[in-house]
Amino acid sequence: MVQPVTTGDRVAVIGGGLTGLTLAYRLSTMGVGVDVYESSATLGGLAGDMEFDGARVDRFYHVILPTDDKVINLAREVGVPGEVEFTDTAVGFFHSGRLESISTLGEFLRFSLLTPAQRVRLAAFVAYCQAIPSWKRIDRKPLVGWIERCAGRGVFERMWNPLLRAKFDDDLDGLSATWLWQRTRRMSGARRKGSTEVCGALDGGYQTMVDALAARITERGGRLFTSTAVDGFAAGTPPTVTVDGEVRPYRMVAATTLPPITRRLMGDDSVLEGTPDRYLGVVCLLLKLRRSLSRYYTVNITDPTTTLTGIIETTRVLDPGGERDHALVYLPKYVNSDSPLLKAPDEEIEQRFLRDLGHVFPDFSPERDVIASRVMRAGLAEPVHGIGAGPGVPGTFHPASPGIAFASTAQIFPIVVSGQATIRLADQACEDILGALGEAPTAAAAASAAAG
Ligand SMILES: Cc1cc2nc3c(=O)[nH]c(=O)nc-3n(C[C@H](O)[C@H](O)[C@H](O)COP(=O)(O)OP(=O)(O)OC[C@H]3O[C@@H](n4cnc5c(N)ncnc54)[C@H](O)[C@@H]3O)c2cc1C
Repeated sequence: MVQPVTTGDRVAVIGGGLTGLTLAYRLSTMGVGVDVYESSATLGGLAGDMEFDGARVDRFYHVILPTDDKVINLAREVGVPGEVEFTDTAVGFFHSGRLESISTLGEFLRFSLLTPAQRVRLAAFVAYCQAIPSWKRIDRKPLVGWIERCAGRGVFERMWNPLLRAKFDDDLDGLSATWLWQRTRRMSGARRKGSTEVCGALDGGYQTMVDALAARITERGGRLFTSTAVDGFAAGTPPTVTVDGEVRPYRMVAATTLPPITRRLMGDDSVLEGTPDRYLGVVCLLLKLRRSLSRYYTVNITDPTTTLTGIIETTRVLDPGGERDHALVYLPKYVNSDSPLLKAPDEEIEQRFLRDLGHVFPDFSPERDVIASRVMRAGLAEPVHGIGAGPGVPGTFHPASPGIAFASTAQIFPIVVSGQATIRLADQACEDILGALGEAPTAAAAASAAAG
């Protein structure tokens, strides 16, 4: 007879992505028993990897910026081998039927999409964003009107409007100025003084950190249940998790799933009030190519002949010396989470995205250049906070849901959702949970935490 899993003295963590694993690791380091539930067969969620043409590659393109100190420190702490190697990257811009480099200050000063006066206004606008100290000054300002006022109508129409439409599935209604403000601030962390953007990656991608987190959790007695979808969970004393029809009591349940999933699992649409109504999904064609397409890590696109959100050649960061005999290129298209494109057949997506790629690189030939391809989809990739959302974004606990801790990326505000931000979120949730449990770290756990 199968023994029921003993759970009552543990904390359940729902979701085995970066947030759930970081939270479970931190709790286990403090001597708290944890059970992580992950519906997929593998851990890592959006930041995980997959088998692709005989090698492990990121499911979605991921890089680390020099300012991502939380990622770098956690990787060291959990024993990820090697250091993050940072590389100067080049940025391209496809507009008016031509591909132009805007990688350096000099190139930016010659950027032909904009008139000289518009370039000055754009530079002033970016500097102005850096100088705004807090989202509180701009959160109530609609994004479009704010850019038009601060950067001028010309800069908006020629540059921001097509870039934002490519990112937000043609729907800019309800977006707050905070989004662009925090985005420009994060990307300024990727710039060397006045010069190129600098990006890095862990050897083996975020998956290396995911694997190390999983190993440290199990060493401390934590349990990782993969291929185990939680069917539901309920607040109460004790809170419970339902798996395969079995109701398991816990000391506490921590949900790292996004609100639309959390609400379904709790059977309660009123939880997590204050989180966004809108989520972006992403449809992404991954290509393994016989040759590099260009020297650019990213190509931004405003040309109406292509509907891609961008072109990301990750081997420009993963393999800066060009030692591999192939290039990895991701073609993402961000869409609303109810977009029909998320359900379109692979062949249709592949044909359309390859045609778009051909507009940017006329010498690209799918027959000659493509070694392997795969269409990836994520229906819920990025929460989109609306105008004036800041003050209402909920924290870890809610009086109506005793025993439940909420730690989803929809509660990250105002900063961009990233590995850095998820670690900060998990750290905060860990602190709140330990406080609520009245859990003083045991001497051994505190020593282990201090030793890292
Ligand atoms: C296209 C793209 C590019 C990105 N690029 C970068 C980048 O360059 N740098 C960077 O730092 N960040 C990047 N990010 C952001 C980063 O991937 C996310 O911040 C991070 O992965 C979020 O982790 P999470 O654990 O909160 O969510 P998720 O990864 O979504 O994890 C949630 C987990 O919950 C599981 N789950 C769902 N329902 C259930 C259930 N019923 N029972 C059990 N488990 C369940 C899911 O399977 C999933 O594994 C990117 C994201 C995307 C989409």
